[in-house]
Amino acid sequence: MALSSSLLYQDYIKGTSPDELKIIANIKRFFECMTGDPEFRAEVESNMSGCGPLLESRGVFGVDPTQLMALFSRGSSEAEPSESDLQDKPQGLLWYRWCKTHEELRRAWRKRSDGTPNKRFNQWHRRQVNRCGSQLGNLTNEQLIHATVVFELTQGCSLQCPFCGLAAEPLKKVFPYTKENARLWREVLDVSVKHLGDTVGTGVCYWATDPTDNPDYLKFVADYGQKTGFYPQTTTSAPLRKLQWTQDLLGFRRQHNTSVDRFSVLSLDGLRRIHKTFSAEELLFTQLVLQYIDVMKKAMARSGRNRHSEVEQEGLETFKDHTIACVTGYLINMAKGTVRLISPCPPSEIAPLGYLVHTEGRFSNAGELDEFIAETMENCMPEHCGSEDILSFRCDLQYGVLANGFQLSNEYKSHKVEGKPYLIKLGGLISGGDLTFSQVLEEMSKESADILAVITTIQKLFSQGLLADKTACGGRV
Ligand code: SF4
Repeated sequence: MALSSSLLYQDYIKGTSPDELKIIANIKRFFECMTGDPEFRAEVESNMSGCGPLLESRGVFGVDPTQLMALFSRGSSEAEPSESDLQDKPQGLLWYRWCKTHEELRRAWRKRSDGTPNKRFNQWHRRQVNRCGSQLGNLTNEQLIHATVVFELTQGCSLQCPFCGLAAEPLKKVFPYTKENARLWREVLDVSVKHLGDTVGTGVCYWATDPTDNPDYLKFVADYGQKTGFYPQTTTSAPLRKLQWTQDLLGFRRQHNTSVDRFSVLSLDGLRRIHKTFSAEELLFTQLVLQYIDVMKKAMARSGRNRHSEVEQEGLETFKDHTIACVTGYLINMAKGTVRLISPCPPSEIAPLGYLVHTEGRFSNAGELDEFIAETMENCMPEHCGSEDILSFRCDLQYGVLANGFQLSNEYKSHKVEGKPYLIKLGGLISGGDLTFSQVLEEMSKESADILAVITTIQKLFSQGLLADKTACGGRV
């Protein structure tokens, strides 16, 4: 099966010439230095016309800073330039279009992730996405891809970062590419594609793990590409740890240009060492995520080991509901033989890792995984509320009565449900949180309400993710 070509990164960039790609690679490095290296930035700003030798010392060639400064963000109050503002700045325009291309691709992926062959899964997925849309802030919602499946190829992570939002356990086991494991892996991919279609391409092969811990990592990714037509993104926090591993990854990505990879950069020293080790062109398809700069520290999820970190004490305002759990689907660990159905949520005491576990199981062969997925799609993804389900609004929503209906709000969103004579009564019954669906209907019929219309309203609340989900961990969300 091959992915729809409009979703492949290589198709998005094929209109860009090799010379343009070269200059884009250098502009990218220029912005990495401007953003992550205060010394570099100060020197450039104080001597823009004479900063050529400084740029070259950081491996930046052929870049004209004067064409790019309009695109360098200094604060959220400054308006982003438009294409027409950049007509006399060809390098600025090139970079602007490159960034827009990436944003467009990301949007396309997000739209794609509820397009599996299974109607129940798609409805469930959309409901969780709707819930996240009102439960998480804009920053998080813009970042979440809502991948339908993610794989882990080790148990645990050797890096043990103090800020790990997923609280990865220490490395215990690697899933090597033996003949037997390779067969199992390919069968697992077949099962995933059978149930989730080409949305499997939105997945990755790491989670609370670092890819560099598995020496055979690229062999698994190569199979992934053969089965789905998509060679998934790789993110590592240790690009300098095993240089040959990283060189192989960069070479692999040049051959299989369906996505970009990411290096998490943990310090200024790390950024400088990465720039010394790899040329700008080598890193064209590798995004450097500068975890150590203030804006990124502030945006770090308050989950896992970072749940009670000291960033707030350092005076940085943080996004308390941010989560990095970008999966609304199956999390499959090949080393442990475990599978969980999960979806993102704000980190909390009942969901400290920033995701809900809807159900979980084990498998020792692809048949068992197939069965698990089929059963969970049948049993954990109801298309509507059951007659014995207790109806209640999500815990994070404040209920308020309006003149002709009711309102559900939290700090991010306000949902108004208005316009029907029965809504005040219905809202009151659901906000009580102790009646089943059939009891609510019984009470509503005492008011001579149009029961079909009431059912439609309840179904709408359910689809919008505004009702508490009984399949989620903790029983209520
Ligand atoms: S942040 Fe990533 S690399 Fe660090 S411990 Fe967690 S999973 Fe491992």
